[in-house]
Amino acid sequence: MESFMHLHLGIDASGLPADLDCHHLVVNDWQNITANNNVCIISIPTVFDPAMAPPGKHVVHAYFAANEPYEAWAGMDRRSPEYKRLKQERAEPLYKALERVIPDIRQRAELTLIASPLTHERFLRRHRGTYGPGISASTPSHGGWPGPTTPVPGLYVCGDSTMPGIGVPAAAASGMMCANTLAPVWSHLSMMDKLVPAR
Ligand SMILES: Cc1cc2nc3c(=O)[nH]c(=O)nc-3n(C[C@H](O)[C@H](O)[C@H](O)COP(=O)(O)OP(=O)(O)OC[C@H]3O[C@@H](n4cnc5c(N)ncnc54)[C@H](O)[C@@H]3O)c2cc1C
Repeated sequence: MESFMHLHLGIDASGLPADLDCHHLVVNDWQNITANNNVCIISIPTVFDPAMAPPGKHVVHAYFAANEPYEAWAGMDRRSPEYKRLKQERAEPLYKALERVIPDIRQRAELTLIASPLTHERFLRRHRGTYGPGISASTPSHGGWPGPTTPVPGLYVCGDSTMPGIGVPAAAASGMMCANTLAPVWSHLSMMDKLVPAR
């Protein structure tokens, strides 16, 4: 799996259609779906919650999912002019995709934040800026996904590096599994028996 490019913008919303949608998927080539810079995912969450931005502004997020090669970025100094130049260059296809939704997006941008695979790696603590751990559920010989218990007594884990894996619902489920390991349903029932004695 490759890494990500993101573009976060704060834009002037004046004159935009009142029925602007929040979610957009821009596909450049339907025959070559996994190609680099091909599928751009766009969201404008202030369509649903204007309080996320000052009055008259929108928040815009656009990204290419897991198809930005990490190699081009590996070992770069994040403060170097080369890094800033590469970020600008690699964000260009994101701007182009956004222009299909809001044609004058560049003129509207008042705040611009470009995130590279190094940003992803650093702030999300993801190996090589990927989506997350590449553990196959179908190859138990590799050990599969870790559960909530660890070899350290009293240390429990949850989150998307544990069973059942990546995604918000899965990460939430791992928290439930961990809670259930700490306090299984049988201990709930015996507690209820104590609180509400059988008649
Ligand atoms: C670009 C992208 C798009 C996604 N889209 C979707 C989607 O549409 N639907 C979906 O279901 N899932 C999606 N996911 C996956 C989903 O976001 C994750 O699987 C989920 O958020 C993982 O939750 P978590 O609680 O395990 O970890 P995280 O949400 O990563 O939370 C871990 C937290 O720990 C903090 N942290 C890390 N190290 C330390 C430290 N040493 N000390 C203190 N704090 C620390 C981090 O800053 C972070 O806040 C997406 C992921 C990405 C990257």
